[in-house]
Amino acid sequence: MADYNNITLDPVCPSWLPEGMNASMLRLDKLDPVISGNKWFKLKYNLKEAREAGYQTIITFGGAWSNHIAATAQACRENGLSCIGIIRGDEIHSNTNTTLRHAAANGMQLRFVSRAQYSAMQQSGHPELEKLRQEGFVIPEGGHNAAGARGCEEILSLFPMEEYTHILVAAGTGTTAAGLINAAGAAQEVLAIAVLKGAGFLEKEIQALLSPYHRSTWKLLTDFHQGGYGKINRELIAFMNQFYLQTGIPTDIIYTGKLVMAFHQLLEQQYFPANSKVLLIHTGGLQGNQSQQEGILAF
Ligand SMILES: *Cc1c(COP(=O)(O)O)cnc(C)c1O
Repeated sequence: MADYNNITLDPVCPSWLPEGMNASMLRLDKLDPVISGNKWFKLKYNLKEAREAGYQTIITFGGAWSNHIAATAQACRENGLSCIGIIRGDEIHSNTNTTLRHAAANGMQLRFVSRAQYSAMQQSGHPELEKLRQEGFVIPEGGHNAAGARGCEEILSLFPMEEYTHILVAAGTGTTAAGLINAAGAAQEVLAIAVLKGAGFLEKEIQALLSPYHRSTWKLLTDFHQGGYGKINRELIAFMNQFYLQTGIPTDIIYTGKLVMAFHQLLEQQYFPANSKVLLIHTGGLQGNQSQQEGILAF
């Protein structure tokens, strides 16, 4: 079971951190190896809503290496719920993909659909989506809804974290960033680091989940995706390996590796005023590193 006592707040001091700059990492990755980091917070109130409405089955969407699919399968098993995963890309086979194999072993029923069908069936009012709603409680891809953001507000109550001036988080759907913006204080700035290319649309997606009473300031930064969602390069891998060797903290190739790299680049651009205290949110996702050839990562 996901146990909050596993989460730590670690000071981080890589060689490239300038003097006078203070940084820590909130290790949500330590919550659980599978229900990793932010995914649990996004699921929490969705599962609660489903249970309260009397549902026995959860239905959700994801790609082949989806952390959300992995987390949902395990969280449903632990909570005695059945679940169905709609998987993007019908060419994928669950026996060659560890994420899907584990999800299936956790009891998730996998349904493979083409990319076109996958996007179509998530549009509200689509007949396929209405059919799914007859079968169970539908959670959107990535847990992107108000209940997801609400769960993420609780991330900032895990430790006293008011003294941080900047909070950095990787953004896929922006749900986690929205929760953090809602919960952060008036003197704090939340920086959402988009991991997909052309992510300007996230601005509206995040805005839609914000409380009218939020006090923090925030920015969506769209230049740190390293080529696009799931795109990796030598620099990123070398950077992640170096960060691990210097801090002992493993990151993932899709989100948190790019987050830390963005932090490094922002420091080089002198983005942070002197004496800033920066909080990096480690949102987990380490299971996704299994998509890489063994030996590429130092951990
Ligand atoms: C899903 C995921 C994110 C993105 O979260 P959003 O709420 O969709 O922005 C960030 N980091 C990791 C490790 C994830 O698995």
